[in-house]
Amino acid sequence: MSTQQLQEKATSVVDVPASLPQALYGLVEQAVEESATDIHIDAWGTEASLRFRVDGTVHQKDTLTYDQSRKLINQIKVAAGLELPAAYRPQEGHFRWLRDDMYRDVRVTVVSTAPRHEAAHLRLLTPPEHWRDVRNLGLSDRDFELVERTFQNAHGLVLISGPTGSGKTTTLYSLTGLTDLRQQIAVSIENPTEYDLPYVRQLEVNEKHGFTMEEGLQTILRLDPDIVLVGEVRDAGSARITARAALAGRLVLASIHARDPAIAVEAMHYLSVPYYVLGGALRLVIAQDLIRTLCPECRRPRSPNAHERLLFEQAELVPPDSVFDAVGCPECHGYGYRGRTGVFQVVAIDDAMGNWLVEGPHQQAIRERMFAVGSRSLNIDALRKAAAGTTSMNEVLRFYGQVQDRPLVIRTDAK
Ligand SMILES: [Zn+2]
Repeated sequence: MSTQQLQEKATSVVDVPASLPQALYGLVEQAVEESATDIHIDAWGTEASLRFRVDGTVHQKDTLTYDQSRKLINQIKVAAGLELPAAYRPQEGHFRWLRDDMYRDVRVTVVSTAPRHEAAHLRLLTPPEHWRDVRNLGLSDRDFELVERTFQNAHGLVLISGPTGSGKTTTLYSLTGLTDLRQQIAVSIENPTEYDLPYVRQLEVNEKHGFTMEEGLQTILRLDPDIVLVGEVRDAGSARITARAALAGRLVLASIHARDPAIAVEAMHYLSVPYYVLGGALRLVIAQDLIRTLCPECRRPRSPNAHERLLFEQAELVPPDSVFDAVGCPECHGYGYRGRTGVFQVVAIDDAMGNWLVEGPHQQAIRERMFAVGSRSLNIDALRKAAAGTTSMNEVLRFYGQVQDRPLVIRTDAK
């Protein structure tokens, strides 16, 4: 790294322990207590809105006067080491919020907005101890067993697919908990690095200085790795190196933007990985998304209605006696939900399926074969979680609505 790069790195993280101004300190504290992941401040006219994103949903928290919002944004800029005058380009920085033995690293972006305002986005990064246990991700017993077995074999490609914000990175990191990293050389390439992972050499893409994902992967392969983590495969060069590293006997965990496992396989092929490489390298595909979990203190049971019973029957699940609605209480700050859990489709690629993939089957044929070996769609996993009282039917229906084209039910001829 050049001196200039080192200096940039040194100034990009500004720790301000216990010296955050009261308004900013209190704001982050409130966000932490309400489990918010993001704080948004936007000015319009003579006022500014203060909003939190909690479990993926935006909530209005307060309306600030123009002066209050100016003062707050200036406090944020000072804490994150940004320039005080409004800049033409977005400004990015970090600060750390500390309370006793608790902390949050806060990533800050401030942008100028027309006509003469500024907007601020604060992302609160959750420290690893909150999510490292792979058993807390929301995998069913069957899916967990498939994942564990893949890790025992310790080679090949594991693809983690999902849309943006579906928890792919959390899963990627959590999966490393299935192996003793003290006895493995693990290296990651990420864009950007979000958390410190013990025993993982974390490289960060830096396009500005010409350090691309592809170059990072080539560097990693010279570092004698047993485990390679790939933040997100987005280009052909990275996709090819990722698959070939797995073919060469390493355990490679890579995330990719795709809605279901069949599309994830096709996406790798679209990124110019030949089917014979994919067939040989792939061991496991995990498709995932996130749904909100009900607050156990205030969720309210009721009988499922006719439409809801039909959804369960179409998914070949027994309709439960009760489903639950979100209510809201002091424990969940009135949201009715507390946290999120993953919904998954996990597909193990055995030798037979691997050999078949070499022939380059069509996406729909891949999907049907995946169902035929016992994996079930994300929608069905969401329904199971509603039947267990983990989430509400409203949340399941909202989830269905986001993905109209996602297969709702398994085809009976694919059993
Ligand atoms: Zn509650």
